[in-house]
Amino acid sequence: MMRVFVIAEHRMGELNPISIEMLNLANALKGDGTSEAVVIGKDINAYAEELAKYADVVWKIEDNSLENYNPELYIDVLMQLFANNKPDVVLIGNTSCGSEYAPYLAVKLNAPIATDVVAVNATDGMKVSRYLFQGKLMTDLKLKDAETYVLTIRQGVFKEGVEVNGEIKDAGIKPSKEPARKFVQYIEPEVGEVDISQAEVIVAVGRGIDDESNIELAEELAELLGGVVAGSRPVIDNGWLPKDRQVGISGKIVKPKLYLALGISGAFQHVMGMKDSELIIAVNKDPEAPIFGVAHYGIVGDIFEVFPELVEKLNEMKG
Ligand SMILES: Cc1cc2nc3c(=O)[nH]c(=O)nc-3n(C[C@H](O)[C@H](O)[C@H](O)COP(=O)(O)OP(=O)(O)OC[C@H]3O[C@@H](n4cnc5c(N)ncnc54)[C@H](O)[C@@H]3O)c2cc1C
Repeated sequence: MMRVFVIAEHRMGELNPISIEMLNLANALKGDGTSEAVVIGKDINAYAEELAKYADVVWKIEDNSLENYNPELYIDVLMQLFANNKPDVVLIGNTSCGSEYAPYLAVKLNAPIATDVVAVNATDGMKVSRYLFQGKLMTDLKLKDAETYVLTIRQGVFKEGVEVNGEIKDAGIKPSKEPARKFVQYIEPEVGEVDISQAEVIVAVGRGIDDESNIELAEELAELLGGVVAGSRPVIDNGWLPKDRQVGISGKIVKPKLYLALGISGAFQHVMGMKDSELIIAVNKDPEAPIFGVAHYGIVGDIFEVFPELVEKLNEMKG
């Protein structure tokens, strides 16, 4: 009977949705076994109740010292829980916190680990799928046979699931030691004034824009279209637009109604971030530019000739 454990993640009073996504996976994997969530913290009843909708069992590990995430204390209490409740699989979010303590836990459990997993098949041993080379290749791996496996799970993959409405148990576990590292404070990243991942119209500029002073042309166009300006990585690296405007695998994934790609070659790292846009129009002076492979409409031409014409036409239309 397989016991699939999910270590829930929460921060600043909010349960990270990856916790529920992992339970969806746990329910798909468990067969006639159980999905078991573990929630660690202080004042965690609300999390436990939410998790119980999707878990057969929710283990609460509660203590004042567990208010904020601490990898040493997490390992300490998890190892106490697992001493009497042997997991077959432990699922942890492939988040900043998860990436930190999952390998540590795997070593303590003497378990093989696979990270950033997007598919799991546990019918004959443990097989997982994960991307390589920033998403260019997908690989299927078979982990060496073991009694316990630790997997970190990519966010946003296992969104579909069913409610199981399980029970909540107090694990009655407290940290057994003082951690060497102490929580000091949260420092929130600066929030940019524009969230491009929510925009319906994006005017995206690439290295073809040539100079920072030309960004205002894109801004004028974006304003006329009721959209926002974003950029490819070189534009961000040059400091012409802030980091939160970068589209691509190391920036943001966007899906607007209209994506205007101006002077962008269409490298796969960029395309991975915008290929699902509803309508893609590309302007590039190179007819061979890969961006034309994903664009619905393409203009082979100089963006500096296309800009004024577009602006003029839009102004005319607006009357
Ligand atoms: C690990 C890793 C992560 C990465 N992550 C990202 C990412 O998240 N986002 C991202 O964008 N990139 C990313 N990159 C970089 C990516 O590989 C490309 O280098 C980058 O996308 C190229 O940007 P570009 O298209 O603006 O520039 P270029 O490739 O230099 O293309 C400029 C294009 O503009 C055209 N052009 C020039 N002048 C004009 C003109 N006047 N009129 C019309 N067309 C013109 C040219 O024909 C050319 O096609 C990443 C790379 C690595 C290695």
